[in-house]
Amino acid sequence: MTFDIEALLRPNIRHLKPYTSARDEFQGKAHIYLDANENPFDDTPFHRYPDPHHQDLRQKIASLIDLPPDHIFLGNGSDEAIDLLIRAFCTPGKHTVLTCPPTYGMYEVLAQTHGVDVQQVLLTPDFQLNEPAIRQAVRPSTRLIFLCSPNNPTGNLLSRPSIVRILTAFQGILVVDEAYIDFADAPGLTDLLSTHPNLVILRTFSKAWGLAGLRVGMALARPEIISVLYRIKLPYNLSQATQSYLYTALDRHREVQQHISLIRTERHRLSCALSSLPFVRQIHPSDANFLLVRFSDPQHTYRYLLSCGIVVRDRSRQPLCQGCLRITVGTPAENDQLIQALSDL
Ligand SMILES: *Cc1c(COP(=O)(O)O)cnc(C)c1O
Repeated sequence: MTFDIEALLRPNIRHLKPYTSARDEFQGKAHIYLDANENPFDDTPFHRYPDPHHQDLRQKIASLIDLPPDHIFLGNGSDEAIDLLIRAFCTPGKHTVLTCPPTYGMYEVLAQTHGVDVQQVLLTPDFQLNEPAIRQAVRPSTRLIFLCSPNNPTGNLLSRPSIVRILTAFQGILVVDEAYIDFADAPGLTDLLSTHPNLVILRTFSKAWGLAGLRVGMALARPEIISVLYRIKLPYNLSQATQSYLYTALDRHREVQQHISLIRTERHRLSCALSSLPFVRQIHPSDANFLLVRFSDPQHTYRYLLSCGIVVRDRSRQPLCQGCLRITVGTPAENDQLIQALSDL
């Protein structure tokens, strides 16, 4: 496939001369920094502007995920990457994005904030991609397709062959959000980046890494796309506090693996315990750190759990999710309390 990223870029972005910060103009090591109007007194660790290119972090992450640093964009949550992708590739009122509900709500919200229309093609009843319907819906104006695998709120992985077929046929950019991939048995789609220049993979430090409050997410793609995201982001999107903290936290990857396997064990235990309850209709198979559970009276169950001090997510008004609550897998003690509360209902 011939892929011309220049042709896909919004004209104003294609011709944009990016802001160059002091840290762009000079990047080496110097004796005295008088280039950025900073306060020279180092009473705090934060008196200098942070690295807008996140060089050290990208280098360290690159070795963890086995991709070169120029394939990695770091944003203020993966939500920032979603926002920038829409900004870069969609002209409001002209181009559209396609999503497959039920799925993560931010694709639609961010498209709408940009005045970009959203085409929706429902997943099939078993929560897989409806390929014929997607093929039929895609138009020349469709610039981005957002898929989520494992999908939120359904919890399942999307079929890889199905994703590859869409990726191969689509002339625009396919974004696969892998926020929950660490909880799945599959390795994710990064191996496809070498053959598919129109693929963007989103990852986040908010879930398996336990850093939701820090706000860091990633877009993984070929350098042509990554460099566009770096050109249009706010220069200092990750604070020095964020960059320093994450740099150190990356050393904890073994503990993160232990948490992941414990959460997977608990997911199985929770699923078995819930399935024996008479008012649980269905527990959807999960490749993520949550369960989508269909109850006979979801509103009643939701309010009852709230009265026990337990808050879950009501997804019962989402398409294909009638009756469903989404329950995050907690600590063993938290899961015990949830199971006890529901057994007493
Ligand atoms: C939680 C979640 C994210 C994470 O977003 P951040 O902005 O990185 O915190 C991304 N995508 C999906 C589908 C999610 O559920």
